[in-house]
Amino acid sequence: MMNADGNILQGKIVLVTGASRGIGRAIARAFVAAGASVILNYREREAEMGRVIDELKKRNKQVVAIRADISNSKDVVKMFGDIKKQFGRIDVLINNAGIRQDSLIVNTAEKDWDNILNVNLKGTFLCLKEAAKLMLASGGRIVNIVSVVGTHGNAGQAAYSASKAGIIGLTKSAAKELGPVGITVNAIAPGLIDTDMVADLTTEQRAKLIKNTPLGRAGTPDEIASAVVFLASDAASYINGQIVGIDGGMIM
Ligand code: NAP
Repeated sequence: MMNADGNILQGKIVLVTGASRGIGRAIARAFVAAGASVILNYREREAEMGRVIDELKKRNKQVVAIRADISNSKDVVKMFGDIKKQFGRIDVLINNAGIRQDSLIVNTAEKDWDNILNVNLKGTFLCLKEAAKLMLASGGRIVNIVSVVGTHGNAGQAAYSASKAGIIGLTKSAAKELGPVGITVNAIAPGLIDTDMVADLTTEQRAKLIKNTPLGRAGTPDEIASAVVFLASDAASYINGQIVGIDGGMIM
């Protein structure tokens, strides 16, 4: 619904996971600007989250933060219980929270594999499952943030790539299962986006990625956020089960 101010998501209840920093924070800001009530999930960085909430509350009083580790089912069930109590429903879920930890396959410890898969893939599933239950009555939108390496792989990122490939399979299955009840499920696959997650790349690694990007630069969190808001809006009502690349042309 669009109101007179052009707030295309006025009245919508939106949960963004991993919203304390980076892409998640930009997505939360974009939803607030579009008129939505936004629940910002974070794992541990209280101070960062507090600053984001203070900033967003100046624009919309309906902004809250909920701490939950998305890889922990008890935390996730409690988070959605709190959302139901406070807002009564949820219209949009953005599964953004994720971690990146690189290692060659021969050096990847079982505990590191489990940790990446638990946060990125299981965490996305747990949130999608609880959101779907709340959306069954009136439909909704789910957008999962994956990565170009989920479709194309990358040496040194087997666990991370596998977790993102898993989310792509989850996205397509959920789109088929939930489409009939009015819930669309799509994914966005970013290329290199300037956030804390990639701050450890060496100058050479960064230059190589940019060399493989026809636009010749890294993307910004805002360039992901605008597409996420579009996929959650009425303008995207017939888009379902798609993986949208936002990568400056890196993968095509
Ligand atoms: P980031 O700056 O490292 O931020 C990650 C966010 O996820 C933080 O808010 C963090 O919360 C949260 N988080 C991590 N583990 C969590 C957990 N177990 N439970 C709840 N929240 C958790 O990362 P980013 O670059 O914005 O990445 C966002 C998404 O985009 C990720 O899924 C990532 O894989 C994907 N992506 C990023 C790039 C890129 O180049 N940046 C490229 C492709 C895909 P705390 O602050 O509390 O730790």
